[in-house]
Amino acid sequence: MAPTRRLTGFQATGHLHLGNLLGALRPLIAAQGAAQSIALIADLHAMTIEHNPADVRASALEQATVLLAAGVDPERTPIVLQSQVREHTELHYLLECVAGFGEAARMIQFKEKSAAGGQVRLSLLTYPVLMSADILLHDVTQVPVGEDQRQHLELTRTLAHRFNTRYGTTFTVPEGVQPESAARIMDLAEPTAKMSKSAGAGRIGLLDPPEVVRRTVARAVTDEFGVVRRDPQRQPGVTNLINLLAECTGREPADPGSYGALKREVTDAIEALLAPLRARHAELAEDPGYVRGVLAESAERVRPTAAATVRRARAAIGLLD
Ligand code: ATP
Ligand code: MG
Repeated sequence: MAPTRRLTGFQATGHLHLGNLLGALRPLIAAQGAAQSIALIADLHAMTIEHNPADVRASALEQATVLLAAGVDPERTPIVLQSQVREHTELHYLLECVAGFGEAARMIQFKEKSAAGGQVRLSLLTYPVLMSADILLHDVTQVPVGEDQRQHLELTRTLAHRFNTRYGTTFTVPEGVQPESAARIMDLAEPTAKMSKSAGAGRIGLLDPPEVVRRTVARAVTDEFGVVRRDPQRQPGVTNLINLLAECTGREPADPGSYGALKREVTDAIEALLAPLRARHAELAEDPGYVRGVLAESAERVRPTAAATVRRARAAIGLLD
């Protein structure tokens, strides 16, 4: 059986948060021994919406630093900056040639983001095709995806299959897998929406100082029932706090009795998780040259596979070598 190869991506659209850690980063770190993973920092995706160039650069470097601080071992898991492996964009174009306009326009995320107003960038429409290229380029067998990316992964599989059928077997068709942790962390101020880098006021950043974490949890939306229990429909805020506590501590919490006590426990649990990460990040941030070195070495490590995939795709679709 072929070894399990996985790709986990993070968009360089801002600061990584607790949802990213519990839903994506921690499962990636936990699987480092069992699966060959690639961590991809997707800075090209940050360009699909209004962005500040300096912020994207800063976000890319910060995310790489946070990944290392959280425990990604670059010897086992390359940390690839999407724009530094040019094959991503070359394969993107080749895949655009098998993707339909209607197919891209039907994507829920495109519909939502394009409805937000302002000029809709063409790259926002083709974003899922670039994401497909990100995945297929590295010949991965599995992609851990949350609910929000499921439709894009289906498109990836469709495009890979279509290309293989029309032009000869070129791509590994990857499977979407449920991340080990079922965590879907909701925004603390708006607990019916997922915690996100680019939206919401109740986000806990992985580098937030302790007083900010405490304040964000203290302000978390609860309800008038006064009972600590999971009831996602009627008590989404309290349910999210209980889930957070369970995820942070790794066990089912006992009933703390009151919302105040629950919030104190949540704050302590988050602090226990973030304190070492913050400290390690501060050390690594002193040496951005090291982090950039990791990105450069990672790009070199994945390039042979990436180049081979593009070579196969070019030949199959009709280009001279
Ligand atoms: P953006 O708002 O820019 O899309 P995001 O917060 O959704 O940012 P991504 O970079 O899109 O973050 O996602 C990185 C990884 O984190 C993905 O694997 C995604 O499924 C996971 N993830 C994102 N938000 C959450 C969340 N609230 N709970 C659990 N996992 C999450
Ligand atoms: Mg997202």
